[in-house]
Amino acid sequence: MSSSVALRLPSIDGLLRHPTCLPLAERHGREALLACLRQLLDELRSDVLNGQLSAVEISPEVLAGRVGERLARQQCSNVRRVFNLTGTVLHTNLGRALLPDEAIEAVQMAARYPLNLEFDLASGKRGDRDDLIEGLIRELTGAEAVTVVNNNAAAVLLTLNSLGARKEGIISRGELIEIGGAFRIPDIMARAGVRLHEVGTTNRTHARDYEAAISPRSGLIMRVHASNYSIEGFTASVPTAELAELAHRHDLPLLEDLGSGSLLDLTRWGLPAEPTVRQALLDGADIVTFSGDKLLGGPQAGLIVGRKELIAKIKKNPLKRALRVDKLTLAALEAVLGLYRDPDRLAERLPSLRLLTRPQADIFAQASRLQPAMAEVLGEPWQVSAVQALGMIGSGSQPVARLPSAALCLRPQVSKRLRGRFLLNLEAALRALPIPVLGRIDDDALWLDLRQLDDEPAWLAQLTQLQVDQ
Ligand SMILES: *Cc1c(COP(=O)(O)O)cnc(C)c1O
Repeated sequence: MSSSVALRLPSIDGLLRHPTCLPLAERHGREALLACLRQLLDELRSDVLNGQLSAVEISPEVLAGRVGERLARQQCSNVRRVFNLTGTVLHTNLGRALLPDEAIEAVQMAARYPLNLEFDLASGKRGDRDDLIEGLIRELTGAEAVTVVNNNAAAVLLTLNSLGARKEGIISRGELIEIGGAFRIPDIMARAGVRLHEVGTTNRTHARDYEAAISPRSGLIMRVHASNYSIEGFTASVPTAELAELAHRHDLPLLEDLGSGSLLDLTRWGLPAEPTVRQALLDGADIVTFSGDKLLGGPQAGLIVGRKELIAKIKKNPLKRALRVDKLTLAALEAVLGLYRDPDRLAERLPSLRLLTRPQADIFAQASRLQPAMAEVLGEPWQVSAVQALGMIGSGSQPVARLPSAALCLRPQVSKRLRGRFLLNLEAALRALPIPVLGRIDDDALWLDLRQLDDEPAWLAQLTQLQVDQ
């Protein structure tokens, strides 16, 4: 202890002139180098005071080397591509839907050049950014009018605040849902200034429950698509058409938060049925809200569609300005919506739909093809097999429905006591690859669901770099 107190850190000036550091200033810029050196020396100072370091560890050579490594690391982007082999296609933590080429080109154009974001080229007057996609959305959903915000949570907040502030919002207890922790219907209602009036019970709500709740204080009736859970057994809810009739009899608007909101009937591709936006409007919902990056397969956005006078009211709310979408999103959204005009080719052109409809036999063939390479890289004590697996749509769409898929199943042939550690080490090694590979651990094995592996060469090319601690 006493000897280490005497340790002195090299000076910044000395380090800046060190032969290892000179080229670093050239490559990364003097400012970045200085900031990095200061940060490193600050961190070391307390260790020196604690006597936890030796003279070797704080020699200029070692420090210059560490600064170089740190600067190189800082230069890598924090936003990284990954392989999503979790089995969940629309994975919220992994960015949900992948955009089609048409949308990527539109985003590039919008990023590179000025554009008519809020400018009407026909009249030469100021325009409205919603107009850029309104025609397409009306055509695809049958809605009278449309507005777009940043995500569906914003769409719900804005709609509630615009139509129900200082009044009561009537909603079934079975629909007071939480989505991904931070989004809870009761909290959003409170923040929107709408007083929650819950009716019915968790499993059963009847028309008479809504009817009994209606009073002069009522502002709206809300319905939320229970997208990330399902209640089974002794249940009852009021169909949208009946609820709309009831709402209109009392002169109240019916909002329907569809969540994933599909524009087309997915059963035509053999996928589980999901309510469509058009049907909700036909059933009489006055406003329907849904996400752009769930089943729609586009960019993150919240779409609000429905009756013209209600949309006009929503657009006048100052919150709309705070929640509006940017030009890149609008460019991508328009391109994605354009693909929906030709449903026959949609499954080829829209990546999320292409992945969701990939046949199990095709995925299984891929798993069989990749099994030998994976087995070779892992070696003992891993058993690698190509197996059938069950994935899911994700993002709250059809939480109980499973997509028949196929996976590489990686199973450590070690004692039960060691299995957990082996699996965590393999999981960490896969995450440490240049393009991190994310799978899922289940039933004492690590599963790589291959439904979403379409860049097989890139995946194979990095496999030899896998280094698993054991
Ligand atoms: C996903 C979802 C939301 C939130 O949508 P974001 O686009 O993620 O903000 C709201 N309501 C329902 C029913 C949902 O499924």
